[in-house]
Amino acid sequence: MMDIRVTIWNEFRHEREEERYRAVYPAGIHAAIAEGLGEESSYRVRTATLDEPENGLPEDVLMETDVLIWWGHKAHEEVSDDTVNRVHGRVLHGMGLIVLHSGHFSKIFKRLMGTSCNLIWRVADETERLWVVAPAHPIAAGLDRYFEIEREEMYGEFFDVPPPDELVFLSWFPGGEVFRSGCCYTRGSGKIFYFRPGHESYPTFFNADVRKVISNAVHWAAPTCGPARVFGNQPPVTAG
Ligand code: ZN
Repeated sequence: MMDIRVTIWNEFRHEREEERYRAVYPAGIHAAIAEGLGEESSYRVRTATLDEPENGLPEDVLMETDVLIWWGHKAHEEVSDDTVNRVHGRVLHGMGLIVLHSGHFSKIFKRLMGTSCNLIWRVADETERLWVVAPAHPIAAGLDRYFEIEREEMYGEFFDVPPPDELVFLSWFPGGEVFRSGCCYTRGSGKIFYFRPGHESYPTFFNADVRKVISNAVHWAAPTCGPARVFGNQPPVTAG
């Protein structure tokens, strides 16, 4: 099997600007995610951040990316429309996209969903319990029927996204809220997975189950060698 080329994109502002976030992710959220993927020898992992030229995602980087992982929060509006257009085009052509946590409000996720992507939230050190609701799904491989994250931010319904093609996880929080926390979509030839956990003040990306989910999602979202999409005026398809 070919190596899967993974680019982990992180806004990388919280960890640089405030000690309390740097204390959780000394080398940045992207580095923790990369470390989590590091045990998988078939992944070729690189990282990119917002303040690099062309937001870290110039055309050549995207052309060499099979799966893009996205973490952003406070600077969604600083991602240029040109960058969003480049990523959008690559997704339609088959690049996988994994959107994490507050990336629900990123320009690229909202563009791909076509809805507000809004939700309810609360930061109160609550335990999140993620139930596997699609046990046969490849993203759930190797998990128990649920797993817990000891402290996380709460996200609750209604989550204003289109109904997912497949729902892999449903989260429960002690406040009584539930949330569709593992949502699969396709757009064009590309596969998209939205995964809820990952607030910047909690060590979620060091959690073994979270790392397993992200690793499984990379496998799932990687391009398959399906037929090229053909559009426009075409001559008849004649018998062989
Ligand atoms: Zn958050």
